[in-house]
Amino acid sequence: MSRPVVVLGATGSIGSQTIGVAERLGIPIAGLLARRPGEELAAHAMRHPDARVVVTGGTLDEREWLEKTIGRVVGHGSEAVADLAAHPGATVVNGIVGASGLEASLATLDAGNRLALANKESMVAGGALIRRRLEGGGELIPVDSEHSAIHQCLLGEDLANVSRLMLTASGGPFRGWSPDKLATVTPEEALRHPVWDMGRRITIDSATLLNKGLEVIEAHFLFGLGYDRIEVVVHPQSLLHSAVEFVDGSWKGHLGQPDMRIPIQYALTFPGRQPTAVSPFTFAGRTLEFEPVDRATFPGLDLAYGAGRSGGSAPAVLNAADEIAVEAFLQGRIGFTTITSVIAETLAEVPQREIADVADVVAADGEARAVAASLVAGAC
Ligand code: MG
Repeated sequence: MSRPVVVLGATGSIGSQTIGVAERLGIPIAGLLARRPGEELAAHAMRHPDARVVVTGGTLDEREWLEKTIGRVVGHGSEAVADLAAHPGATVVNGIVGASGLEASLATLDAGNRLALANKESMVAGGALIRRRLEGGGELIPVDSEHSAIHQCLLGEDLANVSRLMLTASGGPFRGWSPDKLATVTPEEALRHPVWDMGRRITIDSATLLNKGLEVIEAHFLFGLGYDRIEVVVHPQSLLHSAVEFVDGSWKGHLGQPDMRIPIQYALTFPGRQPTAVSPFTFAGRTLEFEPVDRATFPGLDLAYGAGRSGGSAPAVLNAADEIAVEAFLQGRIGFTTITSVIAETLAEVPQREIADVADVVAADGEARAVAASLVAGAC
């Protein structure tokens, strides 16, 4: 029997798929958290009458509406979030979008719960803090498909025998485009991802390859390998989800349908496995292609490597600047290629800090947001 599941970000892409997976397997849902107290959260809450419900946003009226609709108390505020993450014996799926997921990740690990991490920003911005908890015996199962793949490739292996991690990237919707053509991209075009069906920010991040950069930093903190031992290759079919090379020249890769329900379910059932609703994978008739990243056209990847190598607050600054720049792009305020220039300039402007606790992350994040917002205003 799997542990009860707490779903943070219950109305997002990962959250809704997690609820679907848990319902199919008959895993009890102990908690639901969303930003907005709307219809979608109400529907989930009514299907799961035993789940505690918490929201982080919305007006008092909206929260009262939700309480009346679902017939129970709705928690609110950061204490309620931490309390939910500490639900005894739970697997906490953190599908919160953005750096605000960090505190929930830390609360989960502090409570001794399993953290099923889809909120890569908390690993990027607060990787050093999470790393410390993991060294103290916390349990984290990554939900990001690449890191789930690597986690599975490393089962039964000694890290000392790993020579490289290879993250695969689909290349996004603009693979093969010239920088000139990229400058005219609209939000609608960028939101059309060729393979994965995901939330808005991550879809734009996939188009700039910044998402892959965040994943490189995430892999660094998750698996404890240096940046020169983490590589990225473009693999348009997204069937090999990532791979590991060992010192003897052997490779292990993880293949399958590009469907987030697989890594989500793995994080819920680990170390066991269960059948899924995903259609069976067949090899015959498939072609797997690999090509190097066009780093000049997509500078987001090297910005992330640079921030990762700088360490300290630089990854948090990278992430915050990206959140601001992507939002501005989605609002039509800046062009597609300006996203990465805003990030580069923010990284250059915000002074480097050490990250000793959450307050340091919050400070770096706030400073980066302010600088990025003024750069966006200047670029409009
Ligand atoms: Mg991914």
